[in-house]
Amino acid sequence: MSTQQLNKFAGRRDVLRGVSLAAAGLAAPFAMPRLAGASAPLAQQQVPGLYRLRIGQLEVTALLDGHTAFQDQALPGLFPNYDATVAGRLRQQAFMPAGAVPLAVNAYLVNTGGRLILIDAGAAGALGPTLGQIPRNLAAAGLTPAQVDTIVITHFHRDHAAGLLDAEGHALFPNAELVVAEAEVAYWDDDAAMSQARPAVRSFFEPARRSLAPYRDRLRRITPGQEVSAGVVTLPLPGHTPGHMGVRVHSGPEQLIVWGDVVHTQALQMPRPDWSIAFDSDPGQAAETRRRTFDMAATDRLLVAGMHLDFPGIGYVVRRQEGYGLEPLPWRSAL
Ligand SMILES: [Zn+2]
Repeated sequence: MSTQQLNKFAGRRDVLRGVSLAAAGLAAPFAMPRLAGASAPLAQQQVPGLYRLRIGQLEVTALLDGHTAFQDQALPGLFPNYDATVAGRLRQQAFMPAGAVPLAVNAYLVNTGGRLILIDAGAAGALGPTLGQIPRNLAAAGLTPAQVDTIVITHFHRDHAAGLLDAEGHALFPNAELVVAEAEVAYWDDDAAMSQARPAVRSFFEPARRSLAPYRDRLRRITPGQEVSAGVVTLPLPGHTPGHMGVRVHSGPEQLIVWGDVVHTQALQMPRPDWSIAFDSDPGQAAETRRRTFDMAATDRLLVAGMHLDFPGIGYVVRRQEGYGLEPLPWRSAL
């Protein structure tokens, strides 16, 4: 068979349907190399959840805590503005599996060269065995919790703050100061706020207090907008919780906006920013923050990262016919 004939054959759709050369009656006229036997056992586990990128002089490592999922039948309760027809269309567009909507839980580690700053700490064992992988992925990055100098907690929900504790409830990070929004600590400490909260929100109070407890003597209370360290600046993004904040990581002309929980389900909430989630302390304010953040990121072509965007959760916000979408950052070998 000539090269020309082979190219013609390979271009046919039959190749995609699995029609082999032999089945097509085209015996190869040359000797085939001996193939190695498939003798390796199946790996049966994913590679470590790590991805690095450089922002100017800073190095950022995305750390995967794992995945959980929202079951389909829970969605109308989770998103009060949920519309089954719209959701069905958006899910089909995003090639999402039926049955449940996967939810990644990510954290981000900033290495300034002099300090290690962790943004959020994952869920540990608080939300089941599919989460709690940050310590393992930190180890895969060659680091230990004792090396972390500073932890910024975007907000005190379990999937972000339960990982501050080890299995015995002690501080997992023995040397880290904890940077928290003053309004966030005040909210979770407020008994009146707890008793007035909707049930979906009320269940977060006790775990938030437990996560804070061993760090009470090393809290750095800030107002969102303040700097944590050179090139690491907090951003007020209220609504999901009263003190919910993001982090702007910048060096020279480069920057990354880590937006915490502005988005939980990107396939639904990016086209529909008004779909706040039941966990939002103030759903109206959360929707307003979401719209403002998308608009800013799309207009200024900002690189963003999110704790529940598909891992590594880094990309660009783009305007689409229906709301917004995310263009994920391609894998890059060189930092
Ligand atoms: Zn979350």
